[in-house]
Amino acid sequence: MHSSLTHVQYEHLHRANKVELICSQCGEKAFAINPCFQTGNLTCIDLCPNWNAAVWEIRCTQCSYHATEKTFSELGQLYYCLESRGKTLWAWNREHLVMLHKMFTGKINDNDPYANLAVYARREWLLGTRKQAWVKAIEKKLKE
Ligand SMILES: [Zn+2]
Repeated sequence: MHSSLTHVQYEHLHRANKVELICSQCGEKAFAINPCFQTGNLTCIDLCPNWNAAVWEIRCTQCSYHATEKTFSELGQLYYCLESRGKTLWAWNREHLVMLHKMFTGKINDNDPYANLAVYARREWLLGTRKQAWVKAIEKKLKE
């Protein structure tokens, strides 16, 4: 399953409409939401009119930081960014990280809300013994 996923060629980019960030003010977790999320779409494709539009809203969970009219490229640093043996694994949000964990442990299925992002997992994340290290790193992060 994993090897076939990494060989699929996709024409379009795809990403989550809810992104968890490190707050630029206090360093805690902030949520960035694309309006498409409010209409029930967990993920967005690059054909969406909102893809490059300044429509994101950011709100910190811990401080008063709040920003609107941000483009995706202005969002800042992802909250879920893990390091292992010189490599970095990232996830758009907690649910996406949980999906990656399921992927590494062979438990993902098509009903997972973020299963459509599995094809974007980087090849280097999937190499041999590295998978087990990611599984441990993800489990640690999810407990924080
Ligand atoms: Zn903050």
